[in-house]
Amino acid sequence: MSISIIITILLVILYYSYRYAWWGKPVTYQYPRILMYHMIKEHTGGKFKGLRVSPRMFEKQIKYLVENGWHFFTMSELIVQKDHLPKRSVAITFDDGYEDNYIHALPILKKYGAKATVYLVVDRHNREWSSKRKAKNSSGELMREPKLTDDQIKEMIQSELIEIGSHTLTHDNLVQLDDERKESEIRESKEKIEESFNVECESFCYPFGLYKKDDWKLVRDAGYSNATTTNIGIDNIKVANPYLLKRITVSGKDNFLAFLLKLRTGKRGVKK
Ligand SMILES: [Zn+2]
Repeated sequence: MSISIIITILLVILYYSYRYAWWGKPVTYQYPRILMYHMIKEHTGGKFKGLRVSPRMFEKQIKYLVENGWHFFTMSELIVQKDHLPKRSVAITFDDGYEDNYIHALPILKKYGAKATVYLVVDRHNREWSSKRKAKNSSGELMREPKLTDDQIKEMIQSELIEIGSHTLTHDNLVQLDDERKESEIRESKEKIEESFNVECESFCYPFGLYKKDDWKLVRDAGYSNATTTNIGIDNIKVANPYLLKRITVSGKDNFLAFLLKLRTGKRGVKK
């Protein structure tokens, strides 16, 4: 074998070991995994491929979790039971409140008896929020995505598999708001969800995963029991701040190997 072929093979191995850190030691399975999803639908073009996990892939992931002894919790259950969680606990979360959560995800969750938490933007219809993070993201792609109707949400609640959490009133960027607006986004969204759906709204999720140092105290003082960020990782939930919980990003760009690696370490590769 020529030296150039050997070098090429070594480089390929090195690249894949960097991209898929298969040698990474798993984070102890005593720590629950909180998985972050957005949409469950085919990606047919546009910028946000990572936000769209195909229904086929989602089913493969849920089936894997069930068949490998994972226990499903909603976010509020995870917090209440944090000191007594079984090994291999998982919380599925969906951000924003897309209609495909009802159309594609719910039937799969029902089929496998898997629980999940949906973080709803109260005022979610026809709203362009992508640009609140970066002005250049104002294509309207996410605005045009159909969102859950109130009737669909009620049906999801009736399944007894879905907890409804809050993702604020308008999906504004909390970092850019004054304290009064910020508080109303956090507090009033909880009140509106509780009024509309006759449920306790105990779980919160920061829009874009953005927050200032003390914002978690506003979430606590509004009466929530927990909140998730977009910080990547796996927390020891017994000691972590329950208002700043890390999650594992399940991306539409991931293959199944990436999903398995993320379950182990929180990350697919060396960096993310
Ligand atoms: Zn969001």
